[in-house]
Amino acid sequence: MTHILLLGGTTEASQMARVLADAGMRAVFSYAGRTHDPVSQPLPLRVGGFGGVAGLKDYLRTGAITHVIDATHPFAAQMSRNAHAACTACGTPLVRLERPPWTPEPTDTWQIVPNMDALPNALSDTPARVFLAIGKQNLDLFACKPQHHYLLRLVDPPTVPIPLPHHTITLARGPFDVAGDTALLQQHKITHIVAKNAGGTGAAAKLIAARNLGLAVILAQRPVLPVVPTANSTEDVMRWLSHEADRGV
Ligand code: NAP
Repeated sequence: MTHILLLGGTTEASQMARVLADAGMRAVFSYAGRTHDPVSQPLPLRVGGFGGVAGLKDYLRTGAITHVIDATHPFAAQMSRNAHAACTACGTPLVRLERPPWTPEPTDTWQIVPNMDALPNALSDTPARVFLAIGKQNLDLFACKPQHHYLLRLVDPPTVPIPLPHHTITLARGPFDVAGDTALLQQHKITHIVAKNAGGTGAAAKLIAARNLGLAVILAQRPVLPVVPTANSTEDVMRWLSHEADRGV
C-alpha cells in the first residue's frame, strides 16, 4: 500500500498535504522543527531531523515508505541532497515539488549573486536601510557589514543574540501581500531588499513592493540540487504518483 513521506516546511508542502489528505492517501508530513509553533497539517506529523542519510534510510525502511515528496524550501539543500541519496539507496521513488524562481521584469535592475555567501559584498559600504529577508539562519554573514540598519522579519522571537549592531525585528509568518509589504518598507524607510530567490507567491510581495517603490534588490541564486523528477504543482505530483502506481511502484 502507498505510504508517502512528505518533506515540508513551505507553503507548497502545506498545499500538498491538503491534496493528499483530500485524496485519502496514506502519508506522513515531516517538519525539521525550526519554528516554535508550526502550521498544523491534515496528515500525521513527525518533527525533527532524521539523522542524515543513514537515519533517513532507516526511516524509509522501518516506516515502509513507498514514495517521497520533497517539498522543502529551494535553499534547504542539505535535506534535498539527503533525500536523493537515501531514496537512491533504498530504491524509493522521489519527486521534488519545486516552485519556479522569480524572474525580473524588463524594468527591474536586480543584482543577482551566485549564492548566499556573496550577498553581503553586494551591499555597498555606504550605510543603508536593508530589509534582510533571509530568515534567521545566515545572519552572521552580514556581521562584516555592521554599518547598515537591518530590518529582519522572523517567525519566532530570536533565541540567540542577533550579530548585527543595528537591527529591527518584525515577527510575522507568510504568505505576505503587496499592500502590507509596501507599508512595511515605507515605515522602515528601506532602501535595499536582500533576499534568496525562493520563488513562489507567498514571499514575492516584497519584490513587487520594491519594484513599485524603486528600491534596490539583491537576490541570491539557488543552490544546485541533484537531478530528480520535478513537479511545479500539486497536480503534477498527483500525476507522478499515479504514473508510479501504473508502473507498479
Ligand atoms: P537544510 O539545511 O537543508 O537541512 C538541514 C537538516 O535539517 C537536514 O539535514 C535534516 O536533518 C533537517 N531537515 C530539514 N528539513 C527537514 C524536514 N522537512 N524534515 C525533517 N528534517 C529536516 O534545511 P534548512 O534550510 O535548515 O531548512 C529547514 C526547514 O525549513 C525545511 O523544512 C525547509 O523547507 C524550511 N524552510 C527553509 C528555508 C530556507 O531558506 N532554508 C526557508 C523557509 C522554510 P537530518 O540530517 O538530521 O535529517
